[in-house]
Amino acid sequence: MYDIIILGKGPAGIQASLYTARSNMKTLIIANGWGSLEKAEKIENYYGVPKPISGEELLHNGVQQAKALGVDFVEDEVVAINGYEEVEVTTLQGKYQAHALIIAIGSSRKKVRINGLTKFEGKGVSYCAVCDGFFYKDKTLGVLGYKDYTAHEAYELKPVTSNITIYTNGNELDMSEDAKQLIKGMKVIKEPIKEIIGTDKVSGAILATDESVTFDGLFVAYESASGSELALKMGLELNKQSIVVNENFVTNIPHIFAAGDCIGGFKQVSKAVGDGAIAGKSAIEFVRNKKKNL
Ligand SMILES: Cc1cc2nc3c(=O)[nH]c(=O)nc-3n(C[C@H](O)[C@H](O)[C@H](O)COP(=O)(O)OP(=O)(O)OC[C@H]3O[C@@H](n4cnc5c(N)ncnc54)[C@H](O)[C@@H]3O)c2cc1C
Repeated sequence: MYDIIILGKGPAGIQASLYTARSNMKTLIIANGWGSLEKAEKIENYYGVPKPISGEELLHNGVQQAKALGVDFVEDEVVAINGYEEVEVTTLQGKYQAHALIIAIGSSRKKVRINGLTKFEGKGVSYCAVCDGFFYKDKTLGVLGYKDYTAHEAYELKPVTSNITIYTNGNELDMSEDAKQLIKGMKVIKEPIKEIIGTDKVSGAILATDESVTFDGLFVAYESASGSELALKMGLELNKQSIVVNENFVTNIPHIFAAGDCIGGFKQVSKAVGDGAIAGKSAIEFVRNKKKNL
């Protein structure tokens, strides 16, 4: 059991960990890669860095600093967050528990663009198998995606119906062997999707070959889970794609905090670092109070 788990090793997550670790909080950072800063060739607008520095170098420096303070790291993709008294984070490979959680997983990754997809959001197009699967007992379902996260979401739907098809939208399956086991027996359609169709509710799709396919619901799990998708699963309040926090960076669930690009606003390193510092401080106070009352 950790005191604090932080999702993401970008500037917000690392900065939060510098405070939590130095306050003797047993801290774990879970991340699957580097996030948006890795793509920045040169940073010239961050305090105390007089010469241009690459995003990659800044990130490596941050991780080194956190490791030197005793922060643990796990490289894995987060697919779900659960728990009301304690937090449980589910990754593709394991489960981790903590008293408090800081979400610092950056802004949403590239979204899939298919005609009609957004039109049917909430009308048969869903981004959360755990939240909405229940409504589709014994129905025909599609899961849109081609990665490990896709397999995880499809597997979540298995108790609901045996009629699940994976739509990769023109991609080859890019899944680990473990993930492929999760979707064993499910049909896989690799044709690109031209359009999602329906009237009041989604009814299916037209493929690039002009062939029609039918389904009662389509679950989108295209790349890895974004902050907003994880937030939805946990019942966190969202404003469009951003997680809503108060001035102490607490979400609507008292032991869950969020910082950096995933809460919206000015998407810059300096702001992410500031958010991370306050979210870290708030999480420390929360855990200290909780332990006092145990
Ligand atoms: C090309 C480019 C250039 C930029 N240049 C500048 C600049 O010059 N100056 C500046 O101040 N800002 C710049 N930015 C913006 C800056 O990179 C971001 O504002 C900052 O990195 C946000 O930090 P963050 O910690 O919130 O998120 P990120 O840095 O995006 O970190 C997110 C972390 O979450 C992890 N993650 C995401 N999803 C999951 C999941 N499902 N499971 C596990 N881990 C997950 C990622 O792997 C990563 O570790 C630039 C951005 C880009 C794209």
